[in-house]
Amino acid sequence: MNENNDYYGILGVNHDASPEEIKKAYRHLARQLHPDVAGDSPEAEEKIKDVNRAYDVLSNPDKRRQYDLGADPLGPGGTAGFEGGFAFPQGGFGDIFESLFHAATGGGRPAGPASRQSRGRDQLEACSIELKEAVFGSSRDLKLSTFTGCERCSGSCCEPGTSPVKCQACGGSGQVTRVVRSLLGNMRTTSPCPTCQGFGTVIEHPCSECAGTGRVRTTKTVSVKVPAGVGTGTRIRVPGGAEAGPGGGPNGDLYIEVRVKNDPDFQRDGDDLHCLLKVPMTAAALGARLQVETFDGTQDIQVKPGTQSGEVVTLDGLGVGRLHRKDRGDLKVHIQVLTPKPADDSERDLLRQLAKLRGEEVPEAQMASSGGVFGRIRDKLAGK
Ligand SMILES: [Zn+2]
Ligand SMILES: [Zn+2]
Repeated sequence: MNENNDYYGILGVNHDASPEEIKKAYRHLARQLHPDVAGDSPEAEEKIKDVNRAYDVLSNPDKRRQYDLGADPLGPGGTAGFEGGFAFPQGGFGDIFESLFHAATGGGRPAGPASRQSRGRDQLEACSIELKEAVFGSSRDLKLSTFTGCERCSGSCCEPGTSPVKCQACGGSGQVTRVVRSLLGNMRTTSPCPTCQGFGTVIEHPCSECAGTGRVRTTKTVSVKVPAGVGTGTRIRVPGGAEAGPGGGPNGDLYIEVRVKNDPDFQRDGDDLHCLLKVPMTAAALGARLQVETFDGTQDIQVKPGTQSGEVVTLDGLGVGRLHRKDRGDLKVHIQVLTPKPADDSERDLLRQLAKLRGEEVPEAQMASSGGVFGRIRDKLAGK
């Protein structure tokens, strides 16, 4: 037995498969191999022939018995009883036709003419904002190239004073039915009426403003409220902000995808902001009150005596506004102590004196752990 005659194998069923299982397997394959699904190829055509032969034998108790006894009821070549292998086996497959028919015409679309009115498509626009806008939220006016409803015809698509008339070609049903020959036999297919495009009516006097579409191309400005806390990739939805639908249909939704620009002074980590403040060594050693420019204006910060590079002063609530909440993250000011480079001999002498006072003429270096707060934050900001 060559593989073309392995009818159980072709249908993918066991030798003891029940008639129901065989029918089920066949229906499954028939759907898979339908030209609308599998495309029109010689391979698919061959497969359909095989599947039809296998089903013809295994669905018929007499033929199946013969086949099980080692004979091929279809004879050498296995095409007996078939004309080109395109036709369905005899009898009782109305349900298969039915299911294929539905698959071919898009399933459960209700019969009857289509509406000219449909919803406008959604639109996606990009918008770059400053970090400060993400901190506080902002409002943006965006120019959109889109459609708005036609004022002349109010979306009816007809010249004022006229209305659509019933399509003569389809009698107003919007559909035409024809019989086509396919690999699986003759099939009735229903398709939208080409005269009225499936609408069931014809517009004899299309609106001169919108050419009978019910909407016109335009540029409109949409005000978008950018909430505090948005980040790069956040999408803001503006319901009804996109194009008007054809035939007076409702607007689609506008989506704004946000990109937050990098800021030269502040880095963002979630809802917190980080900045680096360079502090003279003397101020770090003696302690000082310093001013730092933030998004909330100038803020005083207290640098305590003996502050080290990498220490962080936290300004509570001066970070990024949390999305859809009232509170904000924090601003973390990272202190960088500036080591003085002596400008002249007197400065050098003073530093030497200081070193002597502190017993540091022969300096002892200490190994610093690479961890710690600054290390962790530095790594986090670097995306490690
Ligand atoms: Zn119009
Ligand atoms: Zn028609």
